[in-house]
Amino acid sequence: MSFPPSSSTIRRSTFRCDVLIAGGGPAGVPCALAAARAGAKVILVHDRAVLGGNASSEIRMHIVGADCHGKRGVELAVEAREGGIIEEIRLEQTVHNPQRSATMLDLTLYDLCRNEPNLTLLLNTCVDGVEMSEGKITKAFATRAMTEEAFEITARIFVDCTGDGRLGAEAGADCQRGREGREDFGEPLAQAEGDKHSLGSSLLFQARKHDTPMPFVPPKWARKISAADVANKRLHFQPGEQAEDLDYGFWWLEWGGHLDTIADNEQIRDEVAAILFGVWDHIKNSGLYPGAEFWALEWFGFLPGKRESRRFLGRTILTGHDVLESRPQTDAIAYGGWYVDTHPPKGVDSPEEPPCVQHWVDRLFDIPLGCCVSRNIPNLMFAGRNLSATHIAFASTRVMATCAIVGEAIGITAAHAVQRGIGLAELWDNPSEIPAIQQKILREDGYLIGIAHTDPADLAKTATVTASSEQPESPATNILSGFTRSVHGKGGAPADRVVPGTHRWMSDPAKGLPAWIQLDWEKPVSFSEIRMIFDTGLHRELTLSMSEKTTAKMCWGRPQPETVRDYRIEARDETGRWHLVAEGTDNYRRLVVHRLSSPVTTQRLRVVVEKTNGAPEARILEIRVENSSPHEICRT
Ligand SMILES: Cc1cc2nc3c(=O)[nH]c(=O)nc-3n(C[C@H](O)[C@H](O)[C@H](O)COP(=O)(O)OP(=O)(O)OC[C@H]3O[C@@H](n4cnc5c(N)ncnc54)[C@H](O)[C@@H]3O)c2cc1C
Repeated sequence: MSFPPSSSTIRRSTFRCDVLIAGGGPAGVPCALAAARAGAKVILVHDRAVLGGNASSEIRMHIVGADCHGKRGVELAVEAREGGIIEEIRLEQTVHNPQRSATMLDLTLYDLCRNEPNLTLLLNTCVDGVEMSEGKITKAFATRAMTEEAFEITARIFVDCTGDGRLGAEAGADCQRGREGREDFGEPLAQAEGDKHSLGSSLLFQARKHDTPMPFVPPKWARKISAADVANKRLHFQPGEQAEDLDYGFWWLEWGGHLDTIADNEQIRDEVAAILFGVWDHIKNSGLYPGAEFWALEWFGFLPGKRESRRFLGRTILTGHDVLESRPQTDAIAYGGWYVDTHPPKGVDSPEEPPCVQHWVDRLFDIPLGCCVSRNIPNLMFAGRNLSATHIAFASTRVMATCAIVGEAIGITAAHAVQRGIGLAELWDNPSEIPAIQQKILREDGYLIGIAHTDPADLAKTATVTASSEQPESPATNILSGFTRSVHGKGGAPADRVVPGTHRWMSDPAKGLPAWIQLDWEKPVSFSEIRMIFDTGLHRELTLSMSEKTTAKMCWGRPQPETVRDYRIEARDETGRWHLVAEGTDNYRRLVVHRLSSPVTTQRLRVVVEKTNGAPEARILEIRVENSSPHEICRT
């Protein structure tokens, strides 16, 4: 097979890469960045003008994850917020987007991709076909209508992060749709009989309160909505009560899960728009809600946020048992923790039902690599809402921060397979491959339940650690504990797989700053890279949200107070003099990587913390001292 029939205006380009990723949503962007940063040549093909999928300014869902809007969080006991690239994105947003502009998130994602030398970004480009050879994908075809171009992209590994699973579907990857029956997997939360229904799609809006009344005339086709239609939904106020909290629309303006959410998307958009303007008309013009006259629509979406469509079948199918019982997975590459969050497929057309039922998940749970590797296409992986899970398990894994850490892990895995020159199936054949991938995930500030950092390349592991001061629960030696977060409290990781502790050095606040932490080796060591993980308050919720109420619970618009702000890294020479090796000012990041211009040889290295972003003590979770891998891209 080659390009579709030629037409005179279409220009054709050919690309070659290691990893092709289709879909630049919450899963696809971290996947592409992770693979590129790990040294693979990556092409990210995204069919919209802006990245971010359901989180983009086109749709505006806020990114949530395992911390359940911070509900799990207990300082120094349960830190469930995701690390790695999604944390990098969240921290960029809180510092550089205090105004909470939705398009600033688009910019951050675009900027991160544009700055990545190993990553080629094809925007406004839709993957619409594949070439297969001996059961494998050899090429993907893509088209960009607005520039009248067609692309033929050869890659070794293909990753479907399209949400709808278009790339995999073109390749004939096994997939499923709908909701399983209870008998299928013995899931207590599954419905008695399976069906083809899914969660529905929604349009969000943003409204603003004005000083003077703002009229609203609904379009002719808006639905007529009564108080009874929305009595069981989450309107924030009852008839007679003041209209408030309308700044972030209603995610439950949902419909169409009883239809085909791919094929019927246009019909679903039209109907959800009729619902949106009908509900707004009801709020504004029914006379039931005092103060509604001052609210006016500021923005509304035209692109339905799609919750569910295809789910691929991988080597493993994650089930409700895995989620609710936190079953250990030997090939864990990420974790989840959001509720099993199911919705009535007909959405607002099920007025007797609440818009969602959220079953609490007691503990964080493993997400295995097997859920992200196709069971019948050997070089196809997937991440995001289309991963291999039952409807019940998907109802938890589908949230965007979970999609992001799975995406990042798949990017790392793809780059690993490319560098090792092996196929995806071989990852399970050699017992050292999956532990090696898990160590790479931890190195990028990922978290895997019960798995410690044991990478022998880290020279810090062989050092003696001391500090200017420390707290009894958080001694200097904690930076070598192998873990970079606390998860031992209620709602954290399963008790039989957790190592309790703060897993960070905390200096004594009574001694003030500066405070230092020092690594001593018996013999001189040489290194060219220092990586540190600082505390960014992972017990708290942190996410760009259009909702005032949600944002009010966060430290938004500034760096997190626990984070080290100004620091120096110094090495001591044989004469006892300290030399500056690297430094950081105005830091707000959690993972900080210093690649040195030339290797340093020393027996003694220290990090001097001059200032934090608010905390009275210095906090560092991990210091790694390494020789840079030739594959890696410098970050500072
Ligand atoms: C209304 C709504 C409310 C939600 N609420 C929340 C919430 O509050 N918090 C939360 O975390 N999650 C929420 N979710 C769930 C979450 O948004 C999704 O599960 C998540 O976005 C899935 O991420 P993804 O990257 O797999 O897919 P998507 O976000 O769907 O992104 C996939 C991207 O791939 C692109 N694409 C598709 N086909 C192609 C192709 N052929 N070629 C190239 N590109 C393609 C699409 O344009 C899209 O941008 C909600 C979802 C919806 C719809």
